[in-house]
Amino acid sequence: MLLRLLFIVLIVYIVIFAIKAYLAGARSAKRTRSATPEGEEMVLDPQCQTYVPKREAIMQAGNYFCSQECAKLFLSR
Ligand SMILES: [Zn+2]
Repeated sequence: MLLRLLFIVLIVYIVIFAIKAYLAGARSAKRTRSATPEGEEMVLDPQCQTYVPKREAIMQAGNYFCSQECAKLFLSR
């Protein structure tokens, strides 16, 4: 009976750990800048969450945006 309870607690811990690890991975994957196979750096538009090539991105206040509209929206928040 006690062993069964310990087993359930262990399973719950593993599930919680797996969910936390998954969420942390998803978050860091969103935040890290990835590169295309050609080696071109991609930057994340914080307004619409879209990756844009760095040379095509619009740099405003330390952030990269896909368009002037996104930059305006983000900076007006
Ligand atoms: Zn955008």
